[in-house]
Amino acid sequence: VKEKIGFAGMGIMGCPMALNLLKAGYPLMVYNRSPDKKKPALEAGALGAADPLDLALWADVIILMLTGPDAVDDLLYGEKGLFVERSSLKTLINMSTVPSSYTRSLAGELAGHGIAFIDAPVSGSKKPAEDASLVILAGGNKDLADRYEPLFLSLGKKVVYCGEAGQGSEMKVAVNLLLAIMMEGLCEASNLAERNGLSLSTFLDVVQSGALHCPLFSAKGEMLKTRDYAPEFPLKHLLKDLRFALCSADTSGVPIPAGHAVYQLYRQGAGRGLGDRDFAAVKKILETQSDI
Ligand code: NAP
Repeated sequence: VKEKIGFAGMGIMGCPMALNLLKAGYPLMVYNRSPDKKKPALEAGALGAADPLDLALWADVIILMLTGPDAVDDLLYGEKGLFVERSSLKTLINMSTVPSSYTRSLAGELAGHGIAFIDAPVSGSKKPAEDASLVILAGGNKDLADRYEPLFLSLGKKVVYCGEAGQGSEMKVAVNLLLAIMMEGLCEASNLAERNGLSLSTFLDVVQSGALHCPLFSAKGEMLKTRDYAPEFPLKHLLKDLRFALCSADTSGVPIPAGHAVYQLYRQGAGRGLGDRDFAAVKKILETQSDI
């Protein structure tokens, strides 16, 4: 018999992930702060929770897929939060992207209450969440991570064990630093090409025909062409992850000059109302900086 899963966070990522758990046969109860977003999971057969406390009372394993540390805190310590019934909490898996320092202190606190914990952020966006082809970046006790590998493989194609609690978060933050820089690089270079009379399609075709070929550039290249920045990974979330990267770099004394530069650009994007658009909209910020 499969363990009962309580899943909180029916956002861009959480909703398709919850649907994949149902497909894999897990008994599922879902919670989302704005109740409407539970609908697809309820229609697919999940039970609905009115508040996080319902999840704590019903589930064997709680999975969180929320914006970041503040949201996780609200879920845990809020008025009808999971911690109201902490004696019935057995296992918590946090798949949200949070700073590694936050994960380490959360792991310590949960251990003090005898609650098993895995830190399991994901690499991959909306489509991999739908196709169950995410890469799960697991941190914490290795035996526990191994035990939940079948569950993770119903959400993704691969589980990478990164080390003790916090190392999954650390891996995720490093990967998203690269993502932010690569996206900015694509936009910067394509603006240069376009401004100098080359077509965007031809530029992207050249990039994709050689050693720079990558799936990120094909997916985002389409967005650049249509200029439709419908959110797959909202810019405001990448900005949050860059803050975590700056923090981690500062603590460990690692230089991330490009990280600092792109942070300022994505920040301008959020300031100009692009926070809820896809992070590929950083192209618009670069376009508005033109001095011609
Ligand atoms: P999203 O669509 O914005 O969903 C965020 C979820 O968090 C929503 O369910 C939201 O509830 C909930 N939430 C936010 N603040 C809350 C609070 N204070 N209390 C309770 N619930 C709260 O974001 P997403 O794209 O699914 O991202 C979820 C996580 O995955 C983030 O950590 C993100 O960095 C990470 N991630 C995203 C992608 C991607 O491509 N989208 C890829 C990899 C990892 P409401 O609906 O009520 O607002």
